[in-house]
Amino acid sequence: MNQSNIYEPIRCTVDGVIEESPAIKTIVLIPEKQFSFEAGQFISMTVPDVGEAPFTPSSSPFKTEKIEVTVMKTGLVTGAIHALKKGDVVGIRGPYGKPYPLENFAGKEVLLVGGGVGLAPLRSLFFSLLHTINAYEKITFCCGAKTPADYIYKNQILDEWLRYSEKMPVSFRITVDKKDEGWNFMEGLVTTTLDNLDIKISNSVAVVCGPPVMMRFTTLKLLDLGYSDSDIYLSMERKMYCAVGHCRHCLIGPYFVCKDGPVFTYNAIRNEPSVWA
Ligand SMILES: Cc1cc2nc3c(=O)[nH]c(=O)nc-3n(C[C@H](O)[C@H](O)[C@H](O)COP(=O)(O)OP(=O)(O)OC[C@H]3O[C@@H](n4cnc5c(N)ncnc54)[C@H](O)[C@@H]3O)c2cc1C
Repeated sequence: MNQSNIYEPIRCTVDGVIEESPAIKTIVLIPEKQFSFEAGQFISMTVPDVGEAPFTPSSSPFKTEKIEVTVMKTGLVTGAIHALKKGDVVGIRGPYGKPYPLENFAGKEVLLVGGGVGLAPLRSLFFSLLHTINAYEKITFCCGAKTPADYIYKNQILDEWLRYSEKMPVSFRITVDKKDEGWNFMEGLVTTTLDNLDIKISNSVAVVCGPPVMMRFTTLKLLDLGYSDSDIYLSMERKMYCAVGHCRHCLIGPYFVCKDGPVFTYNAIRNEPSVWA
């Protein structure tokens, strides 16, 4: 926790707004006070006079002077976030929840599978993995979106990340559900990127984030490929308010997404009936 009062927000000034896709924007925030987090943890962001909602920072945990949050517009708070402009002020509290357990990934081949706005926490995780790249055998990043226009971080992925493969054990599989004439990468659901993987599954962990239907089918395919329940890490989302384990809105069975998660192994939650809700 960055604050002594768990509910007290830190003031942040909006430094910029990046239009990622028609429905998704990345908001660049400058916190008034030092604010740190680990990849996978989330913050609660308040738009004054509107309300607050949880988001996972999408920027590097190692660059804390600016924090980026990638937000899909779905309703009241996210609509107000999309209307923000440079110089506006918002509040953030947190970080909350458990981060990705990087210590469990050491010495392994790490497979990241993200779809749509689910790429947001995975981008933060990817930056963390790059920071300690020698600790991992290899990173394979599978990214998906509905169409090329819906691809978040597209310029960064195509102009910067693809080049990482030249100097680091990092590779990408990039797909869209439906391509257009300018698209030179794969076509098909993100699960198609898991075909013919060059990965030693017995020494690999997989991290999945995306809409519930994508998480479900990706998990099923990973199990088919031979991943064990405890080597599949899922970033779970539930409607939540307090973010600190009081209001019980975010329960999956006995687990609070806000404090026991949002990162869970499939092994931990697989028997909960509401897992893919
Ligand atoms: C731990 C965590 C991390 C998250 N990280 C991100 C992120 O990085 N980027 C991002 O865009 N979104 C993220 N979300 C989802 C985000 O919090 C919701 O989209 C947001 O709360 C919606 O608020 P609203 O007032 O705009 O929508 P509302 O007006 O409250 O609702 C509009 C619609 O969105 C649905 N909705 C609301 N909350 C959620 C939710 N948590 N999950 C799924 N559907 C929801 C409602 O059912 C309704 O259909 C995260 C959620 C959690 C729990």
